[in-house]
Amino acid sequence: MLELQDAFARKFHYLRLSVTDVCNFRCQYCLPDGYRPDGRKTFLTLDEIRHITQAFATMGTNKVRITGGEPSMRRDFTDIIEAVASTPGIRKVATTTNGYRMAERVADWRSAGLDAINVSLDSLDPRMFHQITGQNRFHEVMAGIEAAFAAGFEQVKVNTVLMRGLNDGELGQFLAWIKSNPIQLRFIELMQTGEMDQLFERHHVRGAAIKEKLLESGWQQRVRAHNDGPAEVFWHPDYVGEIGLIMPYAQDFCASCNRLRVSALGKLHLCLFGEYGVELRDLLQHKGQQAALQRRLREALADKKATHFLHQGQSGMTPHLASIGG
Ligand code: SAM
Repeated sequence: MLELQDAFARKFHYLRLSVTDVCNFRCQYCLPDGYRPDGRKTFLTLDEIRHITQAFATMGTNKVRITGGEPSMRRDFTDIIEAVASTPGIRKVATTTNGYRMAERVADWRSAGLDAINVSLDSLDPRMFHQITGQNRFHEVMAGIEAAFAAGFEQVKVNTVLMRGLNDGELGQFLAWIKSNPIQLRFIELMQTGEMDQLFERHHVRGAAIKEKLLESGWQQRVRAHNDGPAEVFWHPDYVGEIGLIMPYAQDFCASCNRLRVSALGKLHLCLFGEYGVELRDLLQHKGQQAALQRRLREALADKKATHFLHQGQSGMTPHLASIGG
């Protein structure tokens, strides 16, 4: 098998597949004015999703995260899970969701083959949750997390963007929450994207500062497995839950990159903050195109850069993470 490998000997076992740009939340750092429909866009069909997944799986990918936009806004979301999960070679199917549909649907998603779930939850205070996300749905999301455990997920990952002056005072509450709950709480450092104005300077909290606090209070770092996501994970003997830190501004963040992205419009993105996407859609139309599709993926990968340029303030062409599957 010809594996997906770049010029820096990084291998890519993990695909993040966006299935829609549409989102019903208006998170301050992502889509503060809400999603603006564009009638010309058509998102990947179920068959196109099957073809992409098959090509990646043939080249060594074994984990797929279905994301968006909000992936559960797709009416055929459960079918998408089923299509990805039934692709030979795919061993783990995950999704990232804002959780608004989880309470009623998560059991179906699990039956369709979903192995892992990440829910975004930026505050444990319903009012702050509303302020950050533009949606008064805190209780629905919490009910969704409960429903995930009831449906048989042993762990749920929760994504939280800590922001100075908004929710950064809640660290203690978050820790208390995971003391007896099997949640991996992942603090994502706020990333600067193209459409942000003053928000980044106003609210950015350094992930490294949170790491120092954790280490001082007895948290210990785990060793990474090869298809783990980008988080540095910490555990503590007194806690059932874990903490993950996602620090894209950390010096060696890109060295362990094992992920590629395909947007909901069928473009391959080598980096969340890359400059361009490689068109794949013309090669997703029938099964007979698999060899050509794999060749295009391999050729594109030769261009993957060693690192992003976020430190220099360059966020590439990414206007916000919903457009490329954050
Ligand atoms: N709609 C889904 C959700 O809410 O989880 C999936 C897509 S969303 C873009 C994926 C994750 O990216 C969320 O956890 C969100 O908090 C995070 N995110 C979006 N923009 C971000 C930014 N500028 N900096 C850090 N995290 C961001």
